Order: sequence, then structure tokens, then C-alpha cells
Amino acid sequence: MTCAVCGHTFEGRILTSTNTMGPPDLDLRPAEMARSTLGMEITVCPNCHYVAHDIAEPVSEETKNFVLSDAAFQTDCWAYSVQAYRNLMRIAVLEERFHDAFSAYLKAAWIEEGRDRLQPSPIRQEVLQFFLEHEKELEFDDDTRLCMRADLLRRTGHFKEVIELTESANTSDAQTDLIMHYQKHLSENKDVRCYTIGFARRWQEETGFISSKPEKEVPTMKITFNL
Ligand SMILES: [Zn+2]
Repeated sequence: MTCAVCGHTFEGRILTSTNTMGPPDLDLRPAEMARSTLGMEITVCPNCHYVAHDIAEPVSEETKNFVLSDAAFQTDCWAYSVQAYRNLMRIAVLEERFHDAFSAYLKAAWIEEGRDRLQPSPIRQEVLQFFLEHEKELEFDDDTRLCMRADLLRRTGHFKEVIELTESANTSDAQTDLIMHYQKHLSENKDVRCYTIGFARRWQEETGFISSKPEKEVPTMKITFNL
């Protein structure tokens, strides 16, 4: 492949397919295999350290100049790294692709949290800040936006905000309502850990929580990041 920024030609791997087994985390982090192939969806140029999903796709002069002059791109990194995803985020911000930037930023946090994802990464504070600043520009539907906001708040310890958000939220379907009430329950226990939608359903069975909202036919992953 040939780098669109510096013209360097090199051998690289391309991820042709992946799959997911099981429910995603509450911040939409996919289950395996997609979890493990995260670093294979992007390529880092070994010469100029430009990073992209498709490194050969032509870029603007502005992007070229940014990569070639910015200090963040001076250091080599590999694709499955916080730095690679931070760099990807910075390029997306420059190009005003805020949804892609948010996705890359969140993935930087996922990478730092690792496969076990037990402790929230400190990067989540920055991701939350970015989300709040660019919420209107993110390509989520209202329910997904609400669930994302609740999970980012809870996993950065903003428990009071999650409880208030759940109480004031006007959710449109039973699944979103369940997720929000589960987030409230976790926040009341000051729990910052990672949970999947499967945990929310189990909690529902245990507590007998019944949503007053209508059931909607919702696929498990109703949104994906457009990458
Ligand atoms: Zn390059």
C-alpha cells in the first residue's frame, strides 16, 4: 500500500472481515472478535506515521501538512495503541469529522482498558468532554445518544448526573428505558465498571423492572461508527 501523505510504499495487512459474538458493552464496544481486531482496522504509515482506515485514500493538502509538521506524528506507533487512535482522532477533528473523531477517541480509551476492561481509562474524562462539546454533531439517534451520555458520565464517576438524567429523560422505547434505569441503579451503587446490555437484561429479570415505554424492534447494534 502507498501512503497518501508521504507516498511511502509498504506491505500491510488489511482486515477483510470480523464478527461479534454476544451483546456489546453499554458504550457500544463490540464483543469478540471485533474487540480483538480493533488494531487491525487502521494502518499506520511506518515513514510519516499518518494513520487512517484507508491509508491510500487521497487527503487534502491541509491534512498532509498537519501530519508532516505536527509533533504527535513524529513518534512511531503501532495500530493497536492509544497513540494511533489519538492521532486518528486529531486528523478527524482537523477535517471536522466529529463523529469519526469521537469514535477514535473512545477506542483509545478501550485500548487502554484492554481486553478485561475492568478499570475505566483516565482518557474517558477527555472523551466525555469531547462528547459534551460535540454532541450535536454526532450521528447518533436520540436514544443511542442518551445511552452513550449516561455510560460516559457513570464511568467517569458523575453518578448524580446519571440519576438526574434518567429521571428527566424522555426515552422512546423499552430497551433504552431499561438501559437508563440500569445505569441509574449502577450509579446509586457508585459503580464505574463495564457492563454489557446482557447485564441490564439480567438485572431486569432479577428486579422485575417493567418499562412503561413501548417495545420496539431494536437490533442489538442499531448504530455503528461509520469508518
Ligand atoms: Zn506516510
